[in-house]
Amino acid sequence: MFITTHAALGALIAQQIPDQPFAAFVLGMASHFLSDIIPHGDTNLYKSYISGKHVKRSIAYIVIDSIIALLFVLFLFNVGLGDAKFAVTMGIIGGVLPDFIVAIYEVLRLRGLGWFHRLHFFFHNMVSEKKDMTFASGFAMQMVFLAAVISLVV
Ligand SMILES: [Zn+2]
Repeated sequence: MFITTHAALGALIAQQIPDQPFAAFVLGMASHFLSDIIPHGDTNLYKSYISGKHVKRSIAYIVIDSIIALLFVLFLFNVGLGDAKFAVTMGIIGGVLPDFIVAIYEVLRLRGLGWFHRLHFFFHNMVSEKKDMTFASGFAMQMVFLAAVISLVV
């Protein structure tokens, strides 16, 4: 899923447990793996990156997604959150960390991270390998989810 979606989910979970930042981190990370099971239309994007077909386009999507995630987080922290700030920070870190580790592995191929990469794609490909939705549907689904989270968190 988009980094923005993972950040939003991590924030939403953390906001329910504002005085438990460690639990927010752990649950944020768990939410990443579980939400990735839901098909979300990025199978072809990743496949074309791996095959070397649309590498620039794939990287551009990730850069755009990352900047939107950054703006989303800035927005969240400026409109409120009150006492939940630290827990939400930890929830967001837990939520986005798996994709960060996967990216580090893609770039550096650090041997110690291979297991994490496999674990991530075990969840990510569990359903979408058999049947994924189109990119447009996945995009629309995540926009609806983001709008819901923004209305809940703000
Ligand atoms: Zn992921």
